[in-house]
Amino acid sequence: MPDIQPLLELAVSDRDITLLKNACVKLDTMIKSCREELDQRLQEKEMKMEELKQIEEARKEIQFKFDLQDQLIGKLETQVPNIRNQKEYVASKKQLEEARKGRGQSEEMLLEMDIKMEELNTILENLAKVITDLESSYHDVADPLIENKEENQTKISEISTNHSDLVDSLPKPIKRFYDKCILNHMHQPICFILEKCCSGCNMMVQPQLVNELMANPSSYKTCPHCSRVLVYQPPVEEESGAA
Ligand SMILES: [Zn+2]
Repeated sequence: MPDIQPLLELAVSDRDITLLKNACVKLDTMIKSCREELDQRLQEKEMKMEELKQIEEARKEIQFKFDLQDQLIGKLETQVPNIRNQKEYVASKKQLEEARKGRGQSEEMLLEMDIKMEELNTILENLAKVITDLESSYHDVADPLIENKEENQTKISEISTNHSDLVDSLPKPIKRFYDKCILNHMHQPICFILEKCCSGCNMMVQPQLVNELMANPSSYKTCPHCSRVLVYQPPVEEESGAA
């Protein structure tokens, strides 16, 4: 009969790592859901800022056009009354009217843009307040979760430090089996019988197999469903270490 101790230790190690990793995934989901509204608002802020930037750019162009029209009008207003040639006078007067019309249109556009920019600035101010509140409530809820996750990660790396030593201490045939399972991405190749089930595949195993293992905890069995190595741990000082 092989020494069962390395198998038990490895089963504990793999089980605890799996539990801790699952807890981390759960915590990640919780952390993400805490951020959901905050991220939405941040995205909204970015969109509004982009919109504001575009209007500012467009406004510059219109302002430039307005200034040109204004200069032209100023020039024509002094020139036109002094034109003696009738034909030239009519043409210049028409040009002045056109320029005034154009300047009026530009002015309207500038006004519209100013209103829109003011609206956007108000929205952005309100968003900034909402984001500050959301950020603080996010930290209230998420910081302990993040801390919890970091603790789990520390535990995982602590447990993992002697993992390869444990694998090396396995009896040779079992080590070969273990290494092959890891290559095939089978998690917990050596696992406990738990509530009459294989804790690797969660399928129920025959009562006889369970009884035999319980009667002789220094032996091991093979799960008939997933072919994992099954071990039994008498219920003493069980410490999962998981969050
Ligand atoms: Zn199984």
